[in-house]
Amino acid sequence: MIQYDKERFIRHLQAMVQIPTVSSADPEQTRTAEFEKLHQCLEECYPLVHRTLKKEIIGKCALLYTWKGSGKSSQLPLLMTAHQDVVPEGDHAMWKYPPFSAHVDEEGIMYGRGTTDSKCNIQAYLDAIELLIEDGFTPEYDLYLAFGYNEEIMGGPGAAGAILHDELQKRGIQLGMAIDECGGISVRNGRHVAEIFVSEKGYADHEIYINAKGGHSAYPPLHNALGKLGKAVYDLEEHRMAPKLCPPVIQQMKADAPFRKDEAVRQLFSDPEGNEEVLKELAEESALINQMLRTTTTPTMAKGSDQANILPEHASVITNSRILPGETLEDLEAHFRSVLPEEAEFRLIKGHNPPPVSSTESYGYRLLQKIMNEKYPGISFIPSMMAGGTDSRYYSDLSPSRSVYRFTGIFYDGKSGGAHSVNEHIDTNVLCDNVEFYVNLFSRYGEEL
Ligand SMILES: [Zn+2]
Repeated sequence: MIQYDKERFIRHLQAMVQIPTVSSADPEQTRTAEFEKLHQCLEECYPLVHRTLKKEIIGKCALLYTWKGSGKSSQLPLLMTAHQDVVPEGDHAMWKYPPFSAHVDEEGIMYGRGTTDSKCNIQAYLDAIELLIEDGFTPEYDLYLAFGYNEEIMGGPGAAGAILHDELQKRGIQLGMAIDECGGISVRNGRHVAEIFVSEKGYADHEIYINAKGGHSAYPPLHNALGKLGKAVYDLEEHRMAPKLCPPVIQQMKADAPFRKDEAVRQLFSDPEGNEEVLKELAEESALINQMLRTTTTPTMAKGSDQANILPEHASVITNSRILPGETLEDLEAHFRSVLPEEAEFRLIKGHNPPPVSSTESYGYRLLQKIMNEKYPGISFIPSMMAGGTDSRYYSDLSPSRSVYRFTGIFYDGKSGGAHSVNEHIDTNVLCDNVEFYVNLFSRYGEEL
């Protein structure tokens, strides 16, 4: 019988959060020493894992663990992913407790950068395996753990997700299922609901710019490069891409409808196709509906000249776009061309198309449903689209059954949150359930359904 010791899980998560593995946009700037400290910390926290599984460092500091199975299972391997890196901690003065203190308050809430995103996943996977080894368990299938180190910068050159993917591909490894961070369990309208992300949007950063003759700002033209660019960006905001209902969003709305408190929203979501026109109108007002129906683009950074009295020779803005499943980078750029004035130019800084939408009928999906239903009888699943992105997208082409899911065993009661903002925190009372979920998954993956 496996014992779940909350204090032990808290100690492990604290040790990880106390190492500031902040990711760097420039691969040359990777804080290798911090990641090495984290690797050392994992060795100390999980001696059995490190004695039993094969550990490899891939690229600069990605971790790949292999738990070789007995080979009795006919299921393809299971891959668990998470990222070691965290986003910068932001303004220290705005944190209740120092961002890398991993302080646990009287209510059992642990504060710190990376507590929810996503060191709690690494902790839960490894604690589950450590407990299973202690219990004498060996899998009948091969289990891989892949932890990147620059997930938070959304890919680009040197993306650890791509490096790990290429390594698995080179070895001819195909996956029965891949599971990444995000998703979890909550209670809505008095019923248990599991949100599982079966799709995510694509991503693109562009530089949009106008070049012009510079000069002294005391002799300005009517519109200089920055002024013209301002208008171009405003036009881009005014003329967004056309809204559309894509299949994963239709699926999500239908599954989500019964749990909506608002009667009007419940009606709309229960028949999205029938209410398509109303939803499109709503997208004009609601940022939430808008991101479900549209490939979005928004300007986030801007630059003119280097000094107040110099006319800009190169005025530029960076835009960030999130691409709806079914649309592509090419569609987005064609839209830019149709909306922007001729003198505005653009270049892609980095980006990728949305990964394929995962199946809701696969063996893996049904196993997740079964495991969850045993713990929370009658639980409903909401297969959802994620507006953000995860490293799991890299593994889609290794999963012939389209079984890439973003899902955890974390119960969200409103007491955990703050990913990417100050005061990121996790309710330590959820740690046992999360570890238990992975113990179930790892020990039962491969069983007949
Ligand atoms: Zn994350």
